[in-house]
This record gives sequence, structure tokens and C-alpha cells, in this order.
Amino acid sequence: MILADCHIHSFFSSDANLSIDDITHKARERHLEFFTISDHYEIWSHEGYTFHPEERCFFLLEKQKLFPGLLIGVEIGEPQENPSLLQKWQNLPFDLFLGSIHVVKNMFGPHSEGNFPDEEVYRAYFSEVKRMVETTEIDAVAHLDFPRRYLGSYFIPWEILDEILTIMIERQIALEINTSAWRKGISASMPDEAILRRYAELGGKRILTGSDAHLLDEVGDGIERAFHLARELGLTPGFYRKHEFIPLVEKE
Ligand SMILES: [Zn+2]
Ligand SMILES: [Zn+2]
Repeated sequence: MILADCHIHSFFSSDANLSIDDITHKARERHLEFFTISDHYEIWSHEGYTFHPEERCFFLLEKQKLFPGLLIGVEIGEPQENPSLLQKWQNLPFDLFLGSIHVVKNMFGPHSEGNFPDEEVYRAYFSEVKRMVETTEIDAVAHLDFPRRYLGSYFIPWEILDEILTIMIERQIALEINTSAWRKGISASMPDEAILRRYAELGGKRILTGSDAHLLDEVGDGIERAFHLARELGLTPGFYRKHEFIPLVEKE
């Protein structure tokens, strides 16, 4: 079995401080054939929170020469706020654009003012995800039911979700199984198994497995479990190289 962890944060993320060499050694120890450095780049954020894209790409390219399993990704937050950015970045040596919604106006995220009913927050969140998959050049969607990490209740607006999954399948955008929820004491997968099943039912195949590691011990955490979950549901785990999806299992 070949495993890939497609979502790891290094010192280029403001909320992590892992060196590339330490990540590489840990990836080897955990038998990861492929691992993608996917640092935060937040569109909404002020400068200083984010890295310089060209400099980081060329730094990581040098590391890639030493460690061929290393892939160059980015976890881009709220890309729908600036869709032309990813078009511009097509010229840089990125392997993966991982799209995330971390912030929804004042309803959710660091500027949240609270007091919104959970259902309303979930609807607003998924509407932003829909805008992201419709309008940007992302390769995959990270932690699709992210508000679950923060809200007391769980709610899926299926009418929006079906549209999101249909667009993703048409545009060949992969869905991530993010294993951080298991570490944070949520027994369900992220996204929930019901969403993964619906993705498969609608014809979806492409799955990325990502630990969302910010600490060394989290590199590769839960990846084998996520791989098996994808296979059980008839989905195809893989990774991206130069924006091309490479399956880790024989084609079905
Ligand atoms: Zn994220
Ligand atoms: Zn992340």
C-alpha cells in the first residue's frame, strides 16, 4: 500500500514551525511515499501572515531534488475572494492548490461575533464553498465540513452540498479526507461519512488524504485509516503532482 499525506504545515505557516528536513524524516518513518507541504496562504489576511509565493516555491524545489516524494502545495484560504491569483500562480512550480474556507464574514472564524444560529452558519459556510468550487482553479477542497470543529451541533444543507459535489465532479476537483478531526476527539470523519457516500453516489472518485499536521508527531497521523475508509466507499485515494491527480490504487 502506497500512502500520501497531502496536507502538512511547515514553518512557512504562521501557526507552525516544522522544518522541511524534520517533516521529511518523519514522513519516511511513517512510510509515506508522498507528502505535500501545504502552507496557509489566507486571502483575507493582512501581509505578514502569508509567505512570499515565488521564494517559497524555489526553496521547496531545492528540497524536492533531495527528497523526490516531497510535493509543493498551498492551502489557500478563501480563494474565491481573488480568483485571478491562482491563475497567476499556474506559472509557479506548485503541485497542489488546496482550497479552504476558514472565515465567513463576521459569522465564523477569527472575526466571528457569535450569536448566529448554527444552521445559519453552516449554510453561509457551504455557500462560500460553492462559490470557491465554481470560480477558482483549486485542485481539491480541504476539510469540507470545517465548522464542525467549532460549533456545538452538526447540520448539512444537502441542497447546497449536492450542488458543490456535482460541480467538484464536473471540474475534477478532489475531496480531502482530513484526519485532524479524529485527533480532536470527533469520532466521525471530516467530512462526515454521509458526505463521502453522497460524493461516491454522484460519481465522485478523487480523494486526498491529509493530516493537516502542524506538529511533528501529526505528520502522517490517520492517513492509513483515511485510505481504508476511501477504499471501503469505492473512492480512489491519490495525490497531485503538477496539478495532475495521480491515483494510489489500480484504476477501477
Ligand atoms: Zn485549513
Ligand atoms: Zn491546514
